[in-house]
Amino acid sequence: MQTPAPVEYAKATSVADAIALLEKYGEDARIIAGGHSLIPMMRLRIARPEALIDINDVAELKGISIEGNEIVIGAMVRHAEVLSSPVLFEHYSIFREAEKLIADPVVRNRGTIGGSMCQADPSEDLSAVGSALGGSVVVQNSSGSRTIALRDFHEGPYETKVGDGEILTQVRFPIRPGNGSAYEKVERRVGDWPVASAGTFVVVKDGVVSDCGIGLTAVGASHFCAPAAEQYLIGKPASEENFAAAAQIAADSCSPNSDQRGPADYKKHLCHELTLRALRRSAQASQGA
Ligand SMILES: Cc1cc2nc3c(=O)[nH]c(=O)nc-3n(C[C@H](O)[C@H](O)[C@H](O)COP(=O)(O)OP(=O)(O)OC[C@H]3O[C@@H](n4cnc5c(N)ncnc54)[C@H](O)[C@@H]3O)c2cc1C
Repeated sequence: MQTPAPVEYAKATSVADAIALLEKYGEDARIIAGGHSLIPMMRLRIARPEALIDINDVAELKGISIEGNEIVIGAMVRHAEVLSSPVLFEHYSIFREAEKLIADPVVRNRGTIGGSMCQADPSEDLSAVGSALGGSVVVQNSSGSRTIALRDFHEGPYETKVGDGEILTQVRFPIRPGNGSAYEKVERRVGDWPVASAGTFVVVKDGVVSDCGIGLTAVGASHFCAPAAEQYLIGKPASEENFAAAAQIAADSCSPNSDQRGPADYKKHLCHELTLRALRRSAQASQGA
């Protein structure tokens, strides 16, 4: 089936308007942002919303800014803006490294950070970046808004904590002076979804890892992260031996599926190798190498 079923369509002018429209159309209404995940699902009739609420014109959902010690990214910020943002690059080079490897310019010109988080595809690259950096999202409904840690936000494949009548408005990341970050991905061909990816940040002080985050995608990592590996590394010397041991803990914590992208044991191997490479490069960047 290549044609979506008939659907009502409404263009929201503000966040409040989007929420009012979601309430008007009820539980079968869906937000549409870049449409690069939702429209293909509608064409295949995997998704059959009764109404689409278009948030592309909502100015409140746009822009990247700094508030206190956090970076704030509006839900409608597109992959292309994340890729080219000097603010994001200054604080976390992982964004640019990951975005260079996400899809192609056509998808990056439309797909959004909010859509990527809400789609909750188990192979989503930005979900791994968000978990590595310990980010959070702001979700709003007609009663107000709440902040949810990204490591709690994804409830499983294609499921998040966004409920009926709710919209994700922002994705926020803490600023960590002196960090280095990196993203490593293996894909079958340029622009493809990952066979496996790992993203990390590391802060090294006096040769010791004082803070770190490890995000993983496409390898069945719970909440796209590897907390046991992070705990292992924090407080230890920033050495190749310790990075390799942490990468092994990360790989052991994953449960990838064998599928058309590769067998499970190969993905576990990639998980170890990509985590090691990302940790190594993050630590080098943190030490100004
Ligand atoms: C050919 C192709 C290749 C791709 N390759 C990759 C890849 O390599 N790596 C990768 O990570 N991604 C990849 N993607 C996915 C791409 O990143 C999508 O753009 C992204 O997953 C969804 O963003 P979107 O803005 O298009 O969301 P949409 O399709 O508009 O929405 C997706 C879902 O999120 C909901 N939603 C969207 N915004 C909000 C909001 N603000 N509040 C509440 N709910 C919301 C929608 O209702 C829908 O359920 C690829 C996509 C395509 C088409």
